Amino acid sequence: MVSGAGFVIKFTNQCVIVTGGNRGIGYAFTRAVAGAGANVAVIYRSHPDAEAVVESVGKEFGVKAKAYKCDVSNSELIEKTIRQIEKDMGNITGLIANAGVSVVKPALELTQKDFNYVYDTNVFGVFNTCRSVAKLWIENKTKGSMVVTSSMSSQIINVTDVASPLTQVFYNSSKAAVSNLVKGMAAEWASNGIRVNTLSPGYVNTDQTQHMDKKIRDNQARQLPLKRFAEAEEMTGQAILLLSDYASYMTGGEYFVDGGQLIY
Ligand code: NDP
Repeated sequence: MVSGAGFVIKFTNQCVIVTGGNRGIGYAFTRAVAGAGANVAVIYRSHPDAEAVVESVGKEFGVKAKAYKCDVSNSELIEKTIRQIEKDMGNITGLIANAGVSVVKPALELTQKDFNYVYDTNVFGVFNTCRSVAKLWIENKTKGSMVVTSSMSSQIINVTDVASPLTQVFYNSSKAAVSNLVKGMAAEWASNGIRVNTLSPGYVNTDQTQHMDKKIRDNQARQLPLKRFAEAEEMTGQAILLLSDYASYMTGGEYFVDGGQLIY
């Protein structure tokens, strides 16, 4: 809840769900919402350390924190998991639909299986998660805020090497799709008091960017106005703002946290 002067944001007695919240950008979101006093439910796919990681965030910030193993692309399972989270944590007021994957291969080598893998998580998985939470909020007649992690690649094509470009075509196009999906969900659910916005990061130092060759990473970083990749924590301010009542007039927007990459 927003409180007083000085822009203090607190989510006390509320629960925020973070998909992919055990690693990378999602882990920074998990810590940020816990730091703002929210109980946090993390949905992860299969990482063996997820439960311990999330538990330790709970201990650090003195909130309830629990990891739920669930593939977001499985509609039935995500629905059950969201209901279970409500039973365990109560009062879900926020969702950060952040889980995402990529397949890094030249376009000529990509397969239908690669397409399904990327789109099932990045588009259908986000849809499943947002819809399950929206159903719950509409049933309970409660309002809430959703933040979907897309990417600046919803707008532009990043090449890993200009001489021999590798562009992750399925990943980029899935992010364009999910940015658009957010606008539709925001339009449909606005009258139910549900806000849905997109947070689109630029390059962030996580496992997902570790595959890049160091020379190429340095070259890409040099071309950014801020001359470096972001740390995951630098994504959290925008996410917390969008979850909070300070963003009560913001819905259907796409907000770039990209070190100025889209300036030129
Ligand atoms: P990571 O690869 O570090 O982590 C991915 C997370 O998503 C993990 O927690 C993983 O769970 C979870 N996950 C993946 N697939 C599923 C699934 N089907 N069901 C449930 N959970 C799943 O990713 P990042 O932190 O780098 O990226 C987070 C988001 O930010 C993604 O949407 C990504 O596309 C986006 N992004 C990242 C950028 C970057 O530079 N890193 C730039 C722009 C956007 P598990 O640990 O169990 O595998």
